[in-house]
Amino acid sequence: MRNFAYHRPTSLADAIDAASAQGADILAGGTTLVDLMKIGVREPDALVDITGLVDLEGYEIGSSRLRFGALARMAEVGDDKGLRAAAPVLAESLWKAASPQLRHAARLGGNILQRTRCPYFRDTAYAQCNKRAPGSGCAALDGGETKLHAILGGSDACVAMYPGDWAQALIAFDAEVMTQGPGGKRTIAFADLHVLPGETPEIETILQPGEIVTGITVPVIPALKASHYLKARDRESYAFATASAAVGVEMNGDTVVDVRIALGGVASVPWRAREAEDSLKGGPLTEDTARQAGHIAFAGAKALEGSAYKIKLGADVVAGALMTAKSRANGGQ
Ligand code: SF4
Repeated sequence: MRNFAYHRPTSLADAIDAASAQGADILAGGTTLVDLMKIGVREPDALVDITGLVDLEGYEIGSSRLRFGALARMAEVGDDKGLRAAAPVLAESLWKAASPQLRHAARLGGNILQRTRCPYFRDTAYAQCNKRAPGSGCAALDGGETKLHAILGGSDACVAMYPGDWAQALIAFDAEVMTQGPGGKRTIAFADLHVLPGETPEIETILQPGEIVTGITVPVIPALKASHYLKARDRESYAFATASAAVGVEMNGDTVVDVRIALGGVASVPWRAREAEDSLKGGPLTEDTARQAGHIAFAGAKALEGSAYKIKLGADVVAGALMTAKSRANGGQ
């Protein structure tokens, strides 16, 4: 590992100042960044450890809005019984992520900014990776292994998958991200935070140098209470999604009033399936309509040989998640 400077500011202003320097990376739980430094994928000149900013640690389960500090830990929030009751999809997507040890270390702000698990990005022995070395090519598209790659949102330059779970719940329920940086404070719709790879896969978010995520909020709506996160993966724990769905429904009798569907494990960025949602609004939610919505969610998928299995799996996961959410809307578990 290359030598680097280490800063541990105790004020947000000092953190922004230090993080604005060229070559500085922001460190919170370190569950992604430290890994990448050990394997030589990230070689920052300086680390700005923001874990001393204790004002960013709290969270609140409010009646009209849920508020999460960027430094709240995944484990404590995911295990909160009040959150499980008010917003099951948020709790489930946190405790189905990673191992207990990682969830205790990882912070919410860092979780939404985690980097891809594409093996060619994480192994510097591979020369081709446009995300790690812009302009070098893409080993995955050049005949590589693509089992865990994106089938939605990819480009000719990169088909890396966004690996997070919580982000799918956030985008489904119109979360907002609060930041503070050299240009002041701003509030970003979660759906606008991540950017598609296009020709510049090295750019993953709209955050500017020195801009620090300070918190996340989620509006409380009826569909949040009848929600579910369903995650398909190779083994039951400590594995990334092969396909997942964050969903919620509001029913009036047999009619869908509101429905939210977001897809994980299948796209380059957190992915809202709005056309699938529209197919259900105003009609019944049955196994047939849920399955049809699942197919609509993947209508624009572009799979490679290794990732083609995700189209059917993803549609099945959407349908299964919707039926659980409907059961919860009717008072079930
Ligand atoms: Fe790199 Fe993206 Fe290609 Fe993976 S899919 S090798 S991250 S350019």
